[in-house]
Amino acid sequence: MHDDGRYDDPRVTGSAGDPVSRETDYPSWSPAGPSRGPSTRPPDCDPVVGRDSGPALPTARPAADGSTRTGNSTGRVIPIRRNTSASARFEPSVPQQPTPDAVPDVAPEPVPVTDTPATPAGAYGPTVTEAAYVSRETPTREEDDPPLAMEAMRAVQILNPSGEVTMPRPERTRVMCVANQKGGVGKTTTTVNLAVALALHGNRVLVVDLDPQGNASTGLNVPHHTGVPDVYDCLINSVPLEEVAQGVEGIPNLWCVPATIDLAGAEIELVSVVARESRLARAIAAYPGHFDYVFIDCPPSLGLLTVNALVAAQEVLIPIQCEYYALEGLNQLINNINLVRQHLNPRLEVSTILLTMYDRRTRLADAVEQDVRNHFGDKVLQAVIPRNVRVSEAPSYGQSVMTYDPGSRGATSYFEAAQEIAERGVKEPVSRNA
Ligand code: ADP
Ligand code: MG
Repeated sequence: MHDDGRYDDPRVTGSAGDPVSRETDYPSWSPAGPSRGPSTRPPDCDPVVGRDSGPALPTARPAADGSTRTGNSTGRVIPIRRNTSASARFEPSVPQQPTPDAVPDVAPEPVPVTDTPATPAGAYGPTVTEAAYVSRETPTREEDDPPLAMEAMRAVQILNPSGEVTMPRPERTRVMCVANQKGGVGKTTTTVNLAVALALHGNRVLVVDLDPQGNASTGLNVPHHTGVPDVYDCLINSVPLEEVAQGVEGIPNLWCVPATIDLAGAEIELVSVVARESRLARAIAAYPGHFDYVFIDCPPSLGLLTVNALVAAQEVLIPIQCEYYALEGLNQLINNINLVRQHLNPRLEVSTILLTMYDRRTRLADAVEQDVRNHFGDKVLQAVIPRNVRVSEAPSYGQSVMTYDPGSRGATSYFEAAQEIAERGVKEPVSRNA
């Protein structure tokens, strides 16, 4: 693996290769503490079958000569074909017939489960026998796998080659902090894909990578090796954001403030800096970029970096992975948000909850969704992001799934989530009253 996180050999197995289920009995969860009783889940949910879908990353495909190219008003040329190399930037593809070595976005043949003991009434999750066969990839059913023409149409809709403003722009900049102190719940994936979706649809968007791992910078293919001016310089050395923000190649309306490994020391160094909690807020306020959206990708902790993001934002977007443990830390996160609101940023509010990595074959995913919707109500977006292998492949090409495979279910779901966020921002502008 290279420093920037890419692999030479795309056959390296990713997380989708683990056939073991993370299913577990799921007690009902309540941020307030006491259990509210099990959420309702129809007992007719699918038996979970299907083996592991193989390597997470695709094999390189031969260049498709004669690929369709689509021009647009901004002069952007969007070749419609499969990616052929890690350096191929923003070459969105419409799905083609799979080549023999391609990894299709479908689950392999289901393996029938026989003699499976019945799940006890009221228990969540499959039996041990079922669990052994659970793949982490949501299987594609017929209705999810529409004809190629429809998928191509969806791809064009998502890429919006005309460059028109098809997602309404908010009156004022919406600064959204993407936070959850648990790692691996989809914060970075959500930040990158929502930012790209909104930018493709006419919004001016800035992504601030506030995680020393620099995953958002990698996902947007923005250089972030040691020596590159980054968000650390803004926080510690008061360098203006516009001096470190980089335009994202291929997407005219998108900029990114990268994070290098230097940021790892910032938690400690910030302690002795004046106004340590509001360094980022000041930097963003001083940026004359006139953005519609600023997304801040937080690290998986509740330290000073996350506090800086919460002070800088008006809105918190919490991605919740549809798994039991993803809910556990939420109490603590909500408490921290309340503290920041009381003492540092009264206009802060949790505006958006996004359910990620939803695997509809599992009772647990459904139970988590019900509980989250019951508790957070209409803050939870209707759009739910399914577990989709294209989403996890995209960063290794320095791309979002929106451009890597715009016809995929992952791209469609993030597109729908972005559209919902944009429409909500216009209907009920958040924190404008503060
Ligand atoms: P976080 O930023 O919260 O740590 P990431 O966005 O980095 O989480 O996601 C963790 C891992 O899960 C990454 O490898 C990412 O590619 C993968 N992932 C995220 N969302 C999905 C999804 N919808 N389907 C499949 N894999 C996903
Ligand atoms: Mg991350």
